[in-house]
Amino acid sequence: MTAELDSQAKPTSILSSADPKIPLNPGRRDLGMRATLVFPTREIVERYYVPLIYTACRTCYSELAPDDIFERAVDGRIAPGKQRELISRVIESGHGSTIEHVVFTFAITGVSRTLSHQLVRHRAGVAFDQQSQRYVSFKKGASTMMPQTIAEADPALRERYEEQIDGALETYGALLEAGIPGEDARFVFPNASRTNLVMTANLRALIHMSGLRLCTMAQWEIRRLFQLIRHEVFGVSPFLGSFLAPKCVPLGYCDEFNNRDGHCPIRPHKDEVLGAWAEKKAAAKTAGRDLPVAD
Ligand SMILES: Cc1cc2nc3c(=O)[nH]c(=O)nc-3n(C[C@H](O)[C@H](O)[C@H](O)COP(=O)(O)OP(=O)(O)OC[C@H]3O[C@@H](n4cnc5c(N)ncnc54)[C@H](O)[C@@H]3O)c2cc1C
Repeated sequence: MTAELDSQAKPTSILSSADPKIPLNPGRRDLGMRATLVFPTREIVERYYVPLIYTACRTCYSELAPDDIFERAVDGRIAPGKQRELISRVIESGHGSTIEHVVFTFAITGVSRTLSHQLVRHRAGVAFDQQSQRYVSFKKGASTMMPQTIAEADPALRERYEEQIDGALETYGALLEAGIPGEDARFVFPNASRTNLVMTANLRALIHMSGLRLCTMAQWEIRRLFQLIRHEVFGVSPFLGSFLAPKCVPLGYCDEFNNRDGHCPIRPHKDEVLGAWAEKKAAAKTAGRDLPVAD
C-alpha cells in the first residue's frame, strides 16, 4: 500500500508549470517523502467501511435498528451499488457526520517541518503524533528537503543554501558534543528538516483537508502529500477515494480570492458564476419575467 514515489520516473520540471501563478508541482519526482495507509486494509474497507457509512446514512430514514441495517449491508442483502448511491447522495448534500464513523491512518515520512507545521493546523477529526526533535538526537544531523526551485536555481545560490543547511546541522552536532541537551540544540534546525508523523483522520476530515490541500493554491509539498494520500485511499477504495478532490470540484466553482483572474482553470471563479447569474437575471427582467428568488 506504499505510495512510494517512483524514483525511476522521468523527472518533470516543477518550473514548467503552465501558469506561473499556480504553485509549482513536483509531479512524480522523488522527493523522498512517503504516505503509507497503514490502516484499514482493502479487505476491511470493502467489507465494513461502506456498510458502516451506509448504516449511518440509512438509520436516519429507516424503522430498522442500525445493527440490522449493518448486518444486511455487510452480508450483501443490500446491494453494494445501492449502498454507494445513498452514500454519494448524502456526502454531496453535505451531511458530514455520516462519514465521521470511519478513519484512515497514514504513516507519513520524510516530509519537511515546513509541511508538518501546515498539516497540524487541521484540528477537527484528525490526530497526529510526530517524531520528537527533543527525544530523538539526530547524531549525523537531520536529513533535509531541498525545494526544486532551489535545486534548479543559480548554482552559487544553491551552494549558499546548502552551506547554510550543512552549517546549521554541524552546529547542532557541535552543541550535542558540548553537552547541550537535544531539546536546546534543535533550535538551530532549519524548516527544511525532515520529520515523520502518524496521522489518523476520519473521512469527513480527510475530504475537507484534501479539498484545501489538493487546491492549486496550496503549497507544493503539502499538495504532493495529499496526492499520495489520495492515491493510497484509491488503492483500498476507488469509491471513497473519489471524494478526495480540490474543494472547487464538489463546490462547482472556485472560491479562492487569489484566483479571481481565473488563472487556475479547474472550475470557474465564483465572481464569474455570480456575474453570469446577474446577466441572466438582467436578461430575464428585460424580457419581463423575474427569476425566482428565495423568500
Ligand atoms: C492555501 C492555504 C493558505 C494558508 N495560509 C495560511 C497563512 O498564511 N497563515 C495561517 O496562519 N494559516 C494559513 N493557512 C491555514 C488555514 O488558515 C487553516 O488553519 C488550515 O487550513 C486548517 O483548516 P481549517 O481551519 O478548516 O481547520 P480544520 O481543523 O481542518 O477544521 C475543519 C472544519 O471544522 C470547523 N472547525 C474546526 N475548528 C473549529 C472551531 N474552533 N470553531 C468552529 N469551527 C471549527 C471549520 O468548519 C473547519 O473548516 C492556509 C491554508 C491554506 C489551505
